[in-house]
Amino acid sequence: MVTLGEFSALGLRDAVSRWSLWSRPRQWVAVTLTSMAVTVVLTVVSTLVFPVSLGQFGILAMLAGLAIAQTEVTRQIERQRRMLSQGPHITVTSVWLLPAALLVPPQLVAALGVIIYVYLAFRSWNGTRPGEAHRVAANATTMILSGFGAALAGHLSDGHSVTTVVAGALGYFLVNTALTGLGLYLTDPAKATPESCLGTMDDNLLELATLCVGGLLVMVLNQEPLLSVLVILPLYVLQRSMLIKRLEELATTDQKTQLLNATTWQEGAQREISRAERENGSFGALMIDLDHFKRINDTYGHLAGDDVLKAVAAVVKQETRAHDLVGRFGGEEFVALLPSTSKEDAIVTAERIRQRISELVIPTQTNECEAVAIENRTASIGVAAFPLDGTSIDEVMAAADAAVYAAKNSGRNRVVGSVTPIRELAAVA
Ligand code: GH3
Ligand code: MG
Ligand code: MG
Repeated sequence: MVTLGEFSALGLRDAVSRWSLWSRPRQWVAVTLTSMAVTVVLTVVSTLVFPVSLGQFGILAMLAGLAIAQTEVTRQIERQRRMLSQGPHITVTSVWLLPAALLVPPQLVAALGVIIYVYLAFRSWNGTRPGEAHRVAANATTMILSGFGAALAGHLSDGHSVTTVVAGALGYFLVNTALTGLGLYLTDPAKATPESCLGTMDDNLLELATLCVGGLLVMVLNQEPLLSVLVILPLYVLQRSMLIKRLEELATTDQKTQLLNATTWQEGAQREISRAERENGSFGALMIDLDHFKRINDTYGHLAGDDVLKAVAAVVKQETRAHDLVGRFGGEEFVALLPSTSKEDAIVTAERIRQRISELVIPTQTNECEAVAIENRTASIGVAAFPLDGTSIDEVMAAADAAVYAAKNSGRNRVVGSVTPIRELAAVA
């Protein structure tokens, strides 16, 4: 006979064992649970040590009210941003947690973090399913601990209001960067890069901009609390500009390789033709086709194939200049347009790319989740030039394509320059 107590204990254990938290990497789970435990302990200790005044409750209520109002104003924007975001979703919650860290005791910082994240999860993100609750809890924990970091840094500063705000913002930024970076690293150590863990320059600037607004809010709350509603509009504009930037990225970039997509590349190439015509200039064009790429998919699976595409895209980007136009044309075909470059120089660049691709060692996984390193990949590259090989982008690329075909036919893993028609050479001479 199972007693009622045993029955509910079994039910609870069963429910807990089904949390999707357990499907995350073990070290991530360990760090997250430890952070949560530390947050709870610090909050309890702080509750026992620091008394709370009525005025501090007032500040908490004000900040929670502002955060909720701002969540409502930007609800649609946040939903779209979350739907379209690829990496970590950057929020503006530090704008509320920094003032809290510097104006109220830590237990109220924790309370504010919980209020904001529970509200965000239910109202803005909508897609937070019960199984995803651990993500919300992990994010809230990171933000609360960052708030504690700000409080500690502010406390250790010399007590002057300016240095307290600067030290607090710095404390928040450092703890946030360290915890978020560690979480992202542990999610997939094999694929982690400094940028994927620490964010792009834009991500960090956004975080700093939010902290600057948070710093100003500290002053406003001290002097004229009612004026703090003025931060809502600038924050709305900031979040909207982040959404617009993301939409622009999606419209112009190939999401697998982060290179230009075919349409954007064509538009850029058309502009380059107009410029070269105006200035009597020239450019080189590379068509890069991976050799026997289908075999990778057939042997290791499509995801491994995708990792090869990403690695090759990174090589092409590294081996070209910032103003060269690098795009993904189709499945395993890449294109690069090198402004103000002769065909001979474009061939030198192509040869460098071919060499680097042949040296790649790409760590990836098979369909059966076995770790493998793919190497000895090669590419055939065709090179053509404007105006030698054509006067439109279609003509130049057709010439580069014919050169790729010639490279494939003569054994692959080679660079072939297009054969310029004799009449064109005569015209140039
Ligand atoms: P060749 O040396 O003659 O160029 O042979 P190939 O196998 O590289 O060329 P083929 O055109 O026969 O095959 C290209 C393959 O690229 C077929 C397709 O499944 C694969 N492919 C296209 N797009 C993607 C993609 O986004 N990801 C992956 N993994 N494979 C892709
Ligand atoms: Mg092809
Ligand atoms: Mg191919």
